[in-house]
Amino acid sequence: MRLDKIVKGGQVVTPAGSFTGDVGIAGERITALGADLAPGQGARIIDAAGHYVLPGALDVHVHLELPFCGTVSADDYRTGTRAAARGGVTTVIDFAIPYAGESLGQAADNWLRKAEGKALVDYTFHICITRWQEHRDQIAGMIERGFTTFKEFMIYQSEGWQSDDRALFGTLEAMREHGTMLLVHAESARVLDELIARHHTPEQMARYGARLHPMTRPNFVEAEAIQRAVQWCEATGGQLYIVHMSTAEGAEIVRAAQGRGVPVLAETCVQYLVLDDSVFEREDGHLFACCPQVKKPKDVERLWQGLRRGEVSVVSTDTCTFSRAQKATWNGDWTKIPMGLPGLETLLPLAYTHGVQRGRLTLEEMSLKLSTNPARIMGLYPRKGAIQVGADADLAIIHPTNTRMVDPAAMETNADWSPYQGWELAGFARTTLSRGEVIVDDYAVVGREGRGQWLPRRSAGLEAGRPAAAAAAAGW
Ligand SMILES: [Zn+2]
Repeated sequence: MRLDKIVKGGQVVTPAGSFTGDVGIAGERITALGADLAPGQGARIIDAAGHYVLPGALDVHVHLELPFCGTVSADDYRTGTRAAARGGVTTVIDFAIPYAGESLGQAADNWLRKAEGKALVDYTFHICITRWQEHRDQIAGMIERGFTTFKEFMIYQSEGWQSDDRALFGTLEAMREHGTMLLVHAESARVLDELIARHHTPEQMARYGARLHPMTRPNFVEAEAIQRAVQWCEATGGQLYIVHMSTAEGAEIVRAAQGRGVPVLAETCVQYLVLDDSVFEREDGHLFACCPQVKKPKDVERLWQGLRRGEVSVVSTDTCTFSRAQKATWNGDWTKIPMGLPGLETLLPLAYTHGVQRGRLTLEEMSLKLSTNPARIMGLYPRKGAIQVGADADLAIIHPTNTRMVDPAAMETNADWSPYQGWELAGFARTTLSRGEVIVDDYAVVGREGRGQWLPRRSAGLEAGRPAAAAAAAGW
C-alpha cells in the first residue's frame, strides 16, 4: 500500500516489544511497521531518530467545561484537547452528567455539543447515572448509541449525583447482563459528612486552613467504599472499575478481590503518584484540593507497586481545571474550594519522568498503563491504544532526556497555575499524530480545532470469559 507518511528511525514501542525502525501511515491508519520502509512518491518523512515513538496516550478520566462546586471548570474542549495533544494524549473520555430532570440521552447530547467544533483529539464519554430509579431503563438505549461505560458516585449528595447501595447493586446487575462496565467514585459519604461536620467550625478553620481537606478524608473513607463496591461486584458479577484510587488500602482490597476472580479493575491518577499531602502545608495549599485528595508517601509507593504488579491497570488525570481566582473563592473554608487539578498536558511527562526515568516502570509498562490498558478496558482496542497495523495512527514522539520546565504561561491549559510549576520534566510530545495527522510539531500545537471525532463503542471491561485473576497476572 502507498504510504503517505513514514515516522522514521525511532524506538517504536508495540505490544510485542520495542524495535528501532519505521511506522508507515496511509490515510488515518498504521499500515506498515518495519526496519526500513520505502517511501512512496510524495510521502512525508517524520524523523524520529533518537526518539521514542509511543502509542498516543488515552486519558480516560477528564472533566472539561464541568459545572461543579458552584462554578464551571476552566478548560473546555478547545483548551483541554489542545493541552491533551501537547501532552501526547490522543483520546480523552469525559463524563456526561445529567442535571435536574435530564435523561442519560440528554446528558450525552449536552456533552456532544460541548465537544462539537472544538475538540482537537478524539473523545467519548462515560454516562453518569445520578438518579437510578429514573435512569435504569435508559441504560440499554445508551449502549445502543455506542456508550458502554457508566459511572456512579458514592458521594456528592449536594451536587445531586449520589448513588446508594441499591443503585450500585442494580447497575452492576445491568452491566453483567449487557457486558458493559460501571465506574465508581468510591468514598464513604456518611462518615465523610460526619468528619467534615465535626471540623467545620471557625476555630478549626482558622487553625488548620486547607489542611482540613486531608484531615477529614482519612484513608478508611476510601477503603470502606471500595470494599463495599467490590462486595456488590462480587455478588452480581457485574464489571466494576474503581476510578481515581488514591490509597494503599484500596490497592490491597482490589488485589485480594482480583485474586479470587472478582471482576474489578482500578485506575489511579498521576497526582497520586507524584504528590503527597504535605502540599497542604504550603501557603497556597488550597490550590491542591482535589477529590479524593493526594495522600501519604506510603500510598504513593503502594500505587507504583500496584502498577507494576497489575492491580492498578490505568493511569489517568481526573483533569478538572480551576484558576487561582476560582480557587480563591474558598475564603478560608475548605469545604468551598473548587476541587480539581489541571493535568492533561503533564500526564505523559510525569509518568515518563517519575516512572520510567526513575526506574519504577519500563517504557513498555508505562505504555501499557497509559495507552493499551485504557483502550482495552474502555472498549476502544485495537483501534486505539497500540502501535500495530490496522490501528489509528495516533502517536506521541518524545525525546528520552530533553526536559522542559512546567510553566503555565507557556502551556495550552486555561489554568494560570500548575501543581507541577517549576518541575523539570522529560516526555513532552515533540510530535503528536492523531489519525495520521500531525497535530503537534516541534512542541507546538498545529492541528485544527474541531477535527477530533466522537468514538462509538460496542464493549467494555475484561474480555468475555477472561478470568479477572488471569487478567491481573497479565498486567491489566
Ligand atoms: Zn472525576
